[in-house]
Amino acid sequence: MTLKIGIAGAGFSGAVIANELAKAGHQITVYEPRQHIAGNCYSSRDSESNIMQHHFGPHIFHTDKAHIWHYVTQLSQFMPFINRVKAMTQGQVYSLPINLHTINQFFNAQMSPSEAKKFIASQAESSIQQPQNFEEQAHKLIGEQLYQAFFKHYTIKQWGRSPATLPACILKRLPVRFNYDDNYFNHPFQGMPIEGYTPIIEKLLEHPNISLKLNTSFSAAMKAPYDHIFFSGPIDAYFDFQLGRLPYRTLDFQKETHEGDYQGNAVINYCDNSQAFTRISEHKHFTPWETHSSTVIFKEYSREAMPEDTPYYPVRLSGDNSLLNQYIELAKKQEKITFVGRLGTYRYLDMDVTIDEALTTSKLFLESLKNQQTMPVFTTL
Ligand SMILES: Cc1cc2nc3c(=O)[nH]c(=O)nc-3n(C[C@H](O)[C@H](O)[C@H](O)COP(=O)(O)OP(=O)(O)OC[C@H]3O[C@@H](n4cnc5c(N)ncnc54)[C@H](O)[C@@H]3O)c2cc1C
Repeated sequence: MTLKIGIAGAGFSGAVIANELAKAGHQITVYEPRQHIAGNCYSSRDSESNIMQHHFGPHIFHTDKAHIWHYVTQLSQFMPFINRVKAMTQGQVYSLPINLHTINQFFNAQMSPSEAKKFIASQAESSIQQPQNFEEQAHKLIGEQLYQAFFKHYTIKQWGRSPATLPACILKRLPVRFNYDDNYFNHPFQGMPIEGYTPIIEKLLEHPNISLKLNTSFSAAMKAPYDHIFFSGPIDAYFDFQLGRLPYRTLDFQKETHEGDYQGNAVINYCDNSQAFTRISEHKHFTPWETHSSTVIFKEYSREAMPEDTPYYPVRLSGDNSLLNQYIELAKKQEKITFVGRLGTYRYLDMDVTIDEALTTSKLFLESLKNQQTMPVFTTL
């Protein structure tokens, strides 16, 4: 039986589900309020310099899931790319994530891995058993000096809040390496799609069973003609913000064009409060296999999202999920709709997790049809 499926959002969540269900023979309509596809992974070439730009912040593909790496590399050629982030703080340039180079440079020492481990343990506050927030977690793991230099002010700029109000889980694992590995991500599969992310989404939506409506927002009132909806827009927007707005951080990007090489690296974080921006991304360094004489940089400023802003990061404060829980309860009373993706489930999700969840959701949907079961409103919460 062919079903009519409505999908809100043409980012990875919407496009993967559209592709899977179209291949299974269903008729799909994808609604996207923006004038372009690819959601926040949208990339396109700068008309003047021809440099590939990531319009909603730099996106580096990284995963530990072999099946997801296989999935994306079937859709695009990926070039090797390792993100090696630098940090400006207290008038010096350091290597991030904090590693043996950073520790030795910061403490003006020549420690071996085991010496550094002991030293950092001596800096850490061992009296904290169960850290209640980000600040306590940082004190417990790395101590006051590294926290002040690399985390405190960056976190305040990024979240607009005292680290004492943010959940400890933001800094869950040991944020320090006791070797000289400066690969920003730990995952075994890392790379950059040779022509950016937009052609990947284009390919996913390129199916005779999929019709795409750009510049068109999907609302609850448009649900009736469809057998099922997958909604990857903001969950509070679906309910017309009737309980209030879920808080988000948004980003402002200040673009500059220069000649030559501006900062010699793709990403430099500004960890202290000498600058209001959190980082500068120089996008031609994300495609080191290309040659460009000029360069485009983006200074990134974080602030609270207003109703007209693009929502970037959900703000989940420690112990305060009551509004989200109310929306979740409201959503669970709905029929024939599944909320997906970073906005539909109000979580930060990397691209690999987004794709994996969208594939799982599609599979569950097809199985639910086969077994005549009800499709859940959430497949991932
Ligand atoms: C600054 C930043 C940097 C990031 N960097 C990385 C990175 O380096 N590596 C990585 O793996 N991940 C990264 N991510 C995460 C990545 O952006 C997400 O994994 C991805 O965008 C999630 O896809 P999605 O489809 O769920 O959401 P989105 O890409 O946000 O797509 C949702 C779509 O729904 C649309 N929509 C909204 N409302 C409606 C409506 N009412 N009707 C119809 N459509 C609607 C939106 O316009 C949007 O196009 C980053 C995220 C941010 C914020």
